[in-house]
Amino acid sequence: MINAIRKLFGLLGRYQKLYLMSALLLMLSIAFRSLEPKILQITIDHVVVLGASDASLGNEDPDAVASALLNLLPPLDVANLGSLLLGVALMYVVIALMRGGLLFSSDALKAWCAEKAGKGLRDRLFDHVQQLPLSYFTTTTRGELIQRITGDVDTVRGFLKGQIINLIRIVTIFIFGFTLIAMINWEYALICLTVSPLIGISSYLFFKKERKIWKEHEAEQDKLNNLVQENLNGIRTVIAYNNQDYEIEKFYDQNEKKRGMGLRQNVLHTFFWPLSDFLGFLQISVSIIAGGYFAMKGEMSVGELLSSYSYLGMVAWPMRQLGRTLSELGIATVAMERLREIEDAKVESKAGEKPEKLQGHLRFDHVYFRYKPTDEWVLKDVSFEVQAGEKIAFVGPTGAGKSTLIKLLLALYKPQKGQIYLDGKPLDSYAPEFLREQIGLALQKAFLFSTTIKDNIAYAKPESPLEDVMAAAQVAQFSEISNLFTDGYETMVGEKGVTLSGGQKQRVALARTLLPAPQMLILDDITSALDTETEQALFQAIQDSLREKTAFILSHRITSIQQADRILVLDEGQIVQEGTHEELHKIPGYYQEIHQIQTAVEAEILK
Ligand code: ADP
Repeated sequence: MINAIRKLFGLLGRYQKLYLMSALLLMLSIAFRSLEPKILQITIDHVVVLGASDASLGNEDPDAVASALLNLLPPLDVANLGSLLLGVALMYVVIALMRGGLLFSSDALKAWCAEKAGKGLRDRLFDHVQQLPLSYFTTTTRGELIQRITGDVDTVRGFLKGQIINLIRIVTIFIFGFTLIAMINWEYALICLTVSPLIGISSYLFFKKERKIWKEHEAEQDKLNNLVQENLNGIRTVIAYNNQDYEIEKFYDQNEKKRGMGLRQNVLHTFFWPLSDFLGFLQISVSIIAGGYFAMKGEMSVGELLSSYSYLGMVAWPMRQLGRTLSELGIATVAMERLREIEDAKVESKAGEKPEKLQGHLRFDHVYFRYKPTDEWVLKDVSFEVQAGEKIAFVGPTGAGKSTLIKLLLALYKPQKGQIYLDGKPLDSYAPEFLREQIGLALQKAFLFSTTIKDNIAYAKPESPLEDVMAAAQVAQFSEISNLFTDGYETMVGEKGVTLSGGQKQRVALARTLLPAPQMLILDDITSALDTETEQALFQAIQDSLREKTAFILSHRITSIQQADRILVLDEGQIVQEGTHEELHKIPGYYQEIHQIQTAVEAEILK
């Protein structure tokens, strides 16, 4: 438990000192608060007694704190009764002011630290997530990440804001309260402590149970988030298949599981709160009996008895709060562990060479790759060489390994056997950042951000002048942007703006890939939504304006690949054919088959 508190405290980072300062202010405020019963005590035992019986006990008391306060008053004399009463009242006001002022400063400082730490934590996590390799996101769901970066950070922030200091408050009040009772009568103070171990043990057990239930609750919450996320991402499919009822049922089921865990937590609370209340009150009852006994025996004055009861009241509240705080501690440690899991994920190494320029020569040397050690090889003994400036097409049936090959080329994964050389050096000797800069990737399923067309194209280089953006759009065969949209390049796209057609999106995404002028290009089925004419023009433009650049073209359309300098046919993870269109379409094999089918289909359409 102490360890958990220490770790949570560690999350405050550089705000730890200020937070401790806030704790100190709180302790001072409690110290002032502890003086209030003492004032009642000296008022009854000294001032009231003096007024009622004319018997002055003087400004001294066996209780050191009471004595100190009495010494601040005028001499205890019947002639001073008026000023004595005024004096105690003034003391009360000063104490209330000090207590209030200190509490305010402590609260403000604590809230400031917790908010700053929460923001810092959120920033740090997001930063970390951005550095994680792509493979991390294939094993962790988005809903889970969102819940952790927002929900769990908030839980931790809330704990720092309310509960750590609450623990300090509880401990301080406890120490002050019991010390002051012990100063009056230590035997009585010990009796007042008898029930405390029971309260401590039950709180600890509660903390353990709360942690367990909350962990399960959060796992169900993650699943629910994922379900919503996936549903919304695929809402078109859901509607197209009229599958809303199935989706609703899935949601209901998961929601019910989450409710079940929420209920278990509530049952735990409904059981524990009354128990901790009962123990608190049992403690007070024991103390009332003992206090009455000591007072009747004359070992405690009426004023001392009254102030002791006030201290008990003061201590009873934090004892009851202890369970609540420990429950929050349980929840916060679960949140912290969930955050730590993200922070512990290894970020992609940034190390590696960053040469001035890349030529674009590539060699796969007996490359073997599979996603999991238990899987079959996805790529088997793949060897080929590409000269700088060559335009290479990859074709092959679905699942042949084309996309995997590209992922290896982008260093998103490493081959288990064999080596990939870029300009004669192993691929992993380059910094990943350099590879991503030099190897431009355009995907079939173009993702555009909800911003202007210009900002989308200039995503990699936001400072680019409009001319560069337009030049990239020109090569991507999308120069009609200014004519098509009234706001031209400033047209908003995505959720907040116009919806582009599939082909338009593909061309904007291609322009985005071309703008930073990478030395190598990967065009992954980018013409699937284009008409043949635009497609031909696009490849002509790529041939003309990107003469020096090495390009890899992945496509199912013969029209997209036949202009390539060389075509590599992949099947079941192996290169089975290699040559130009002229060569391959004459040789029996996969390429000839798709060529014949596609030519026949085209002829049919043109009829
Ligand atoms: P293509 O692009 O030629 O259609 P892929 O490279 O996508 O082929 O897939 C090749 C094989 O690798 C397929 O059997 C596919 O199921 C498998 N595969 C692809 N991605 C993953 C992944 N992330 N984890 C496990 N297997 C994968």
